Amino acid sequence: MTRAVHHDCDVLIVGSGAGGATTAAVLAEAGHDVLIVEEGSWVEQGSTVPFSLDQMDKQYRSGGVTVALGLPSIAYTEGRCAGGGTEVNSGLYWRPPEATLELWRTKYQIRDFASSDLLDICAEVESELSVQKVPGEHTDASDILRRGADRLGWRNDEIPRWMTYPEGAGATEGQRQSMTRTYLPRAFASGARILCDHRLDKITRSGRRATGAELTHTVDGESSAVTVAFRDVIVCGGAIQTPAILQRTGLRHRVGRTLAVHPTVKLAARFDDPVNTPEDVSVFQVKQFAPNISFGGSASHPGLVALALTDNWRDFGSAVTAWPELAIYYAAITSEGRGLVQAIPGVRDPLVTYRLTKRDRDLLGQGLARLAMVMLEAGAEEVYPSFKQAPIVRDRADLATMTSMFAASKASVMTVHLCSTAPMGDDERRCATDSHGLVHGTDNVFVNDAALLPEAPGVNPQASVMAIAIRNARRYCDERAG
Ligand SMILES: Cc1cc2nc3c(=O)[nH]c(=O)nc-3n(C[C@H](O)[C@H](O)[C@H](O)COP(=O)(O)OP(=O)(O)OC[C@H]3O[C@@H](n4cnc5c(N)ncnc54)[C@H](O)[C@@H]3O)c2cc1C
Repeated sequence: MTRAVHHDCDVLIVGSGAGGATTAAVLAEAGHDVLIVEEGSWVEQGSTVPFSLDQMDKQYRSGGVTVALGLPSIAYTEGRCAGGGTEVNSGLYWRPPEATLELWRTKYQIRDFASSDLLDICAEVESELSVQKVPGEHTDASDILRRGADRLGWRNDEIPRWMTYPEGAGATEGQRQSMTRTYLPRAFASGARILCDHRLDKITRSGRRATGAELTHTVDGESSAVTVAFRDVIVCGGAIQTPAILQRTGLRHRVGRTLAVHPTVKLAARFDDPVNTPEDVSVFQVKQFAPNISFGGSASHPGLVALALTDNWRDFGSAVTAWPELAIYYAAITSEGRGLVQAIPGVRDPLVTYRLTKRDRDLLGQGLARLAMVMLEAGAEEVYPSFKQAPIVRDRADLATMTSMFAASKASVMTVHLCSTAPMGDDERRCATDSHGLVHGTDNVFVNDAALLPEAPGVNPQASVMAIAIRNARRYCDERAG
């Protein structure tokens, strides 16, 4: 039997996404010997078409086919590559709302959590990621949302993105400032190392201390064992994988019990002229009914248009050949419901379930109806809502029919915003970690990713994840000299 390859480090960081990459940069720059292990591969930005099925195959977990069981089940996606979700996402940047930070501080007893400090960190992140609006022309799909909302008098705005653009360039010419272009190179410049294609299987433990990690390295389908010894381990595998890793380590207190997401329902809208830009999404969001309901644009690659039409293929299917004239939009809600993430012995991926409340299901129906209204106002010829047996909506009368036929249990609900499976705070009854991410009951196991957010923030979450991760990493450096 071949011996496992072994590595040593001061701090092992599991995952290289929004939480892991920022943590690695802060720690490495403070002099810590950092090793990052990342289950996915290093995929250069630009080597796959954004939002394509090829990208889903290369950079998403299970090719993007992952589901939280429930009534309805909720399809979710996770990035699995160097840089995690930041490599594949829409890049739409929202600071965490100040009121939300204040609520979390008091409700979960989070120490030293002044919203002004976090917003100062957001300002640093904005500069590091070149967060900005599109300097030139928007895509047609963006203009549709703005036009429809303006005609209804509904509040809408362009959301800035972490992109760099040539001077005066249009929306599709931006370069996404993901972790492989920003915080990971910063970490490497200060000596951090990364092992891609290395999946952490298990952290070994003796009482309150983690003692080592067991990993599998996979190249061209061949797997080999790897071990790592460390002083501290910081788990940043994202809100689904992090609780599964902790549970496999025997750490279960408040872990994986409070998954929070922003559920979305979709529709495809058909216009007279070509409007589809497969490699980009709308930069406008409609916030008239926020925080409960928000509208935005979804990836509209032809394969995804086909998927959006499958809810009533008999009536919608013929539209697929006109895909250049179609674009997909979503209505997202804040959800009262919660989900569970449970590691199952002997099974690679955890079992995920999510329960929408009655209020959530009603909001999804209201959201879809109002979104269809925006599309009609913007000049859509036909709207194809994503629920089983949905009618084609061509006018307000059809809209009323659609509303009466909608049931959330028939809808194709999905989410890309996953949070809150190891919430942080000193209130041990509610929280899995302390106020800075140290898992309760341990001396050296930390979490520093979306799992820490006590609730879904009601806006796109990456900035919240990064700001909290940087705050916690700095505290770690203050307490443990490099
Ligand atoms: C399609 C999509 C669109 C999105 N759009 C936006 C947007 O426009 N704006 C926004 O703010 N947010 C957006 N998000 C959400 C945002 O990307 C996430 O909130 C953010 O990436 C979460 O950071 P994280 O560090 O918690 O996890 P991730 O960024 O997902 O990183 C976790 C990493 O850990 C790795 N990992 C997991 N388990 C293991 C293991 N056992 N061993 C080794 N490595 C492991 C994973 O491969 C992954 O790379 C989007 C997400 C998706 C998927």
